[in-house]
Parts: sequence; C-alpha cells; structure tokens
Amino acid sequence: MAELKNTMEIFKLLDKSNCRECNEKTCLAFAAAVFKGKRQIGECPHLDRETIEKYSGKTKRAQSIEEDMADAVAQLKGKIPNIDLTATADRVGGRFSNDKLTIRIFGRNFSVDSNGRLFSDIHINPWLAIPVLNYILEGGETPVSGKWVPFRELSNGMVRNPLFQRRCEDPLKRVADEYTDFFADLLDIFDGKQVDNLFDSDISIVLYPLPLVPMLICYWKPEEGMESSFHLFFDATAEDNLHIDSIYTLTAGFVHMFEKIAIRHAVK
Ligand code: SF4
Repeated sequence: MAELKNTMEIFKLLDKSNCRECNEKTCLAFAAAVFKGKRQIGECPHLDRETIEKYSGKTKRAQSIEEDMADAVAQLKGKIPNIDLTATADRVGGRFSNDKLTIRIFGRNFSVDSNGRLFSDIHINPWLAIPVLNYILEGGETPVSGKWVPFRELSNGMVRNPLFQRRCEDPLKRVADEYTDFFADLLDIFDGKQVDNLFDSDISIVLYPLPLVPMLICYWKPEEGMESSFHLFFDATAEDNLHIDSIYTLTAGFVHMFEKIAIRHAVK
C-alpha cells in the first residue's frame, strides 16, 4: 500500500470543509499535524472507515538531519566487514593490529574493527564518523604534496565554497577574533603544529584531521583599520584522498567541536 509522503497527499483525502470538529483550524492544519505524527488520520470524523483503515499509520515522516546521518553511519559501518583492514591500513596511513585498523585523527587514536565497531579517544559524532569511514572505505593512497590551496581551488570546491565559508571559515574567524586563547587551544586539544607564517599570515597552524588530509589554518590579525582575516587551506591532493563532500563534513564537524569547546572553556 502506498505511503502518504507529504501533507498534501493527506489533505487530498479530507473533505476540505474546515469544519474544525477535529479541533484544528483548517483541514490543511490537520493534514500537517497527521504528517508530523501529532494526530491520527482517523481523528477526522468525516473520513469513511475504508479510508481510515487504508491509511492509518501510513505516513512517512521526513527524517531529521541527525537521523539521516545516523543511518549513513550505520550503512558505512556495515561495509567495513567487506574490506581487508590490513591492506587498508597501508593505503590510508594507519596501522593494523588485534583485529583493529587505527588511524590518527587530530593526534588521537581512532580504530575500527572487522565488524565495523568504532573505538576512539575523541568523541565520535556523525559529522566526524561519516568522513572518517568514507576515508577508510575509499580514500587515502595519494601522498601529501605540501602545496596548500584554498577550498575553492579544489576541483569541486568552487560550487560548495559559499556554504564552506558560511559554515566553516566564518565561525572559526569569529572564535579567533573573540577568544585570545584560540590558537593555544588548537595546538593543545587538536595536536596542531605551528609552522612558519605562510601566506604572510600572523599565525599558521597545521592540523591532521586524517593522516593524508592535513588542514592549514591561517589568521591575519586586524591592523590599521583593516579587519582580521581567516582562511583554511588543504593540500592540493585532498580530493584524491577524500571526497569533497566528506572534506566539507569533516571540517564542519571540527568547527562544531571547536565552537562548543570555545564557548564552554575559553576565557576572553
Ligand atoms: S474534522 Fe476533518 S473536515 Fe473538519 S476540519 Fe478537521 S480535517 Fe477538516
């Protein structure tokens, strides 16, 4: 039997009299409530028994992003038993022992066993688990070149760059501007490595969210009436080692983690 996939499909079944006997202001409001799972279709007294029996419990509620992401993690974990973790360890810059492939994420261990179970020293949320599992399943192999490029200059980066700026660079710039201990935290918590000031930036820090996908953070302090500036760079090989969507998800996950830490702990 077909599911009711949206509010309008439910609305079409109603008599559209807006009689309010269901205590909703309109039939459309009732249909929306049914679709959200707040009301049962049988609560409209004007529907015949056949329609109620046919469609009761047949609404397909739209999943939240969190539910979608949890499903994606479960699907990716389900693929792990099909790969050779020993060979994968060589490909992705990890090591294999005691039935576990281990890679370093921000300087911490992240392991997956042959049954797809995850073990980690850092909190694993779906924003992190999805790109890391994609990296293990399909990424890696290409050596890091040492040439840094902005996200927009990655082969498929330009079209995603506005979202990347909004969700990744802008929030990190705000944290950098606001919290004086921002860079010290990057070094301490995320195992960042301070490097020579690249691109004439005042501060340059390299992070390793994945062994073959390093990230360079550059910050230019405000001066002489000019605003500060903040940019993230990736190795020119980044897309060879990780799909562009996973690069975005991984960075957004890092930003989310860092914002939470900054808000909770940082001292202005
Ligand atoms: S009781 Fe049925 S017909 Fe009346 S407003 Fe509610 S949904 Fe519409």
